[in-house]
Amino acid sequence: MPTTKGLPVCRACGGAATAQPLLDQCRSSNDMMVPALGVHPMNVSRVVTEDTDAKGETSLTVLDRMLTEGRAKGSLVHVGETGLDGRLTKGLSAEDAARERESQEHMFSEHCRLAVKHQCPVQVHIISRKPSCWPVLTATLQRHTPPAVVLHAYSGSLDNFVQVLMPLNCYLSVAPFVLDKTAKKMRRCARECPLDRLLIETDMDDAMWTEHRGEGDGEDDDLSTCVYQCHSSLWDATVAEVAMLRGMDPDQVAQACRDNLRRVLGMD
Ligand SMILES: [Zn+2]
Repeated sequence: MPTTKGLPVCRACGGAATAQPLLDQCRSSNDMMVPALGVHPMNVSRVVTEDTDAKGETSLTVLDRMLTEGRAKGSLVHVGETGLDGRLTKGLSAEDAARERESQEHMFSEHCRLAVKHQCPVQVHIISRKPSCWPVLTATLQRHTPPAVVLHAYSGSLDNFVQVLMPLNCYLSVAPFVLDKTAKKMRRCARECPLDRLLIETDMDDAMWTEHRGEGDGEDDDLSTCVYQCHSSLWDATVAEVAMLRGMDPDQVAQACRDNLRRVLGMD
C-alpha cells in the first residue's frame, strides 16, 4: 500500500484471516496506513450465501468484533468499502436481481449501523443504475448516520450531494476519472463541492487506465463502465486538475484534502 505526501491511504482486500496482519501492519505505521474493514458490494451475494451456510460467526459478527478490538486498541480502523452497485443486477432474472438488491441494501444498512455503534467513518461505494440507488443511500444514512461518510469516486449529482448528503455527514471524494474531460458530473463536483467536504483519491495503487466508453445506460457519469486503475502518481495530476477547475493553487487543494481526511478519520 502506498502513502502519498503524508496522507493516510486506506485499501485492503481479503477475509478475516488476512485482516488481522493488515491491522497489525497499519498499527505499526504511525497512522500512515489506516485500515478499512467491510464487505464490498461486489462480494455481498457470495458472503450472504456463505453466512447462511456457515454454522459459526457471520461476516457481520466478525466485523463487529474486529471493530471492537481495533477501536479498543486505539486504531483508526473504520468501515468500508460498503455500498450499492447497480451494475451487479445486470443480466439477472427479475427474481435474482431483487435478491441481489435486497442483499446489498441489507449489508449496507448493517455496515452503517455498526459504524454508528463504533462511532467510526464509512467508505461508501455507490454506482447507481435503474432503479436508482440514490434514494436507498439517503434512507439508509438517515436511519444510521455515521460520524463521517466518504463517498468514494463520487459520480452523482452535485446538487443531491450538497442538499441531501452533506447534512448526513458525507464527504465527496474525487477520483482520477476527473481528468477525463467528458466526466461532466465529476468535474462539476470537483469545481463546486464545498472545500471542507472535498477529498481526492487514487482509488487503486497500480496498473493502468483502460476505458470502455459509451457502454453505460445509467444516471452516473460513465465512470461505472470505465474500467480504470490508477497509479498513485496520478495523485499529482488529479490534484492539479481539481485545482485548475477551482481556480486554486494545487498546494492549497492538497492541504484542504489532508485537513478533511484527518477530520474524517478523527485524527484531530
Ligand atoms: Zn469502490
